[in-house]
Amino acid sequence: MLISVIIPCYNEEAVINETNCRLISVIQGITPNFELIYVDDGSQDKTADLLRQLQQNDPRIRTILLSRNFGHQMAVTAGLDHATGDAIVLIDADLQDPPEVIEQMVYQWSQGYHVAYGVRTERIGETAFKRWTAKAFYRLMNQLSDVPIPLDTGDFRLMDRQVVEALKLMPERDRFLRGMISWVGFKQVAVPYQRAPRLAGVSKYPFWKMVRFATDGILSFSLVPLRMAIWTGLFTFGLSLIGIIYALIIRLFTKSWVEGWTLLFISVLFIGGIQLVFLGVIGEYIGRIYRENKQRPLYLVRERLGFNRSQ
Ligand code: UDP
Ligand code: MG
Repeated sequence: MLISVIIPCYNEEAVINETNCRLISVIQGITPNFELIYVDDGSQDKTADLLRQLQQNDPRIRTILLSRNFGHQMAVTAGLDHATGDAIVLIDADLQDPPEVIEQMVYQWSQGYHVAYGVRTERIGETAFKRWTAKAFYRLMNQLSDVPIPLDTGDFRLMDRQVVEALKLMPERDRFLRGMISWVGFKQVAVPYQRAPRLAGVSKYPFWKMVRFATDGILSFSLVPLRMAIWTGLFTFGLSLIGIIYALIIRLFTKSWVEGWTLLFISVLFIGGIQLVFLGVIGEYIGRIYRENKQRPLYLVRERLGFNRSQ
């Protein structure tokens, strides 16, 4: 039995060495048979050099250097494509997800579960704003999405090889891994844990990146925004029917029928606004189709270290 641990790293020079020590000491306690796969997501600091050094001193460490910053989800995907373990663990480089929890995940896996996902019962040291937006997002996501996605889960989880093989069959570019992993099914179980503060360095998810990530999650797992166009369309159609009846009544039965001007003005603006909004929503989906159609690779590797096997 081989356990692979995938650690995406973007400008994590401040934490890499300590993370590596903690991970190794925890996993050694579980099994002697493991590999750590570090994916450098085009860091601008010394992360790549540090990973190179770590890899030279320890044959159980493998390092993938991507050609530029492709984003967290792509970095994890690169790791998944290179992992050879029977069980594969995803964990952040900043020790916000305590490595000790992996032991419980491995236990659940040995009990026959295919996915053991971490659920954050508490987030220590994160701003109230981040906690609140994250909470709201997971609830909204669940309302809209076609497959239920467990609340308050991140990417910290253990997956059986079968699940990873299933994920590899999903070549989509807008990757929202936690949703995709829910979609594949299999037997899944929650492992609760407390999310610690970042060991050092700053979050690589500033506000706009979070908004983008959330939009990706919703648009690639839900057609509800498109369906909303139909409902809103029906609603405005209903309103305009009332307007027509009103206009007809004052035209036929009163003498003051020029008064409809305000109604006309408002309804033109109202319908125009709604049309523009949904044009935008449709545009988002079309943009995604366009991006998928180009069939570009998801990420590009600059260097692979510690992989002797032919890829
Ligand atoms: N990360 C990455 N590429 C990016 C952004 C982040 O590989 O473009 C990695 C980062 O190094 C960390 C993990 O993804 O290991 C989670 O990022 P972070 O801790 O900054 O996010 P947060 O915990 O604040 O949501
Ligand atoms: Mg973090």
